[in-house]
Amino acid sequence: MLIKENFFNFVMTSFQELKTKYSTCKKCSELCKSRSQVVFGDGNETAKILFIGESPGANEDKQGIPFCGMSGQILTQLLNSVGLSRSDIFITNTILCRPEKNRNPSKEEVNNCRERLDELLKVMQPQVIVTIGNFATDRIIGKTGVTSIHGKVFQLGDIQVVPVIHPANLLYSGRNPELFKKMQEDFKIIASLIELKKSQKNIKDF
Ligand code: URA
Repeated sequence: MLIKENFFNFVMTSFQELKTKYSTCKKCSELCKSRSQVVFGDGNETAKILFIGESPGANEDKQGIPFCGMSGQILTQLLNSVGLSRSDIFITNTILCRPEKNRNPSKEEVNNCRERLDELLKVMQPQVIVTIGNFATDRIIGKTGVTSIHGKVFQLGDIQVVPVIHPANLLYSGRNPELFKKMQEDFKIIASLIELKKSQKNIKDF
């Protein structure tokens, strides 16, 4: 028991250290100007399910929480529809800082944030990663074209990776109900993966 407590204390400390380390990151000169704060992530720090989006938008930059705007509402709705909640997962982005006028992150910015995401994976050791949209999918499994590979399960070492359509696409579609249904199907796959892991007793902190 003592070992377990010490282990979790270690994990928590490492997580906090990482968060502190990147709270003042200055690797990207443009992002330093466009951000008002670094949006490190939100949710359950000990979760074994990690969601990765693209980059913080205006709301996220203001509140310091990823996916807290309209895309976030859709994400929460999708999670809830399969019995999951935001506190069951941890969520971060491919880059930690808001680009000006919500432009796409540049290759250089994604690369500058590479070490941070690798370090987070090391600390959290997720068993399932959900990549939201093309940027995160490319960053994690080197694939784009999320509209054709969403809902498929990819193996990254011991980690299962599921790309999903970005909720912003649903907003651009005028909340097309057919698209929402498609997105929900992907979340059913994620939920069943988690159930399988739980039944194998692989996920302890869920
Ligand atoms: N879109 C993202 O990709 N990330 C956020 O945090 C918010 C919107």
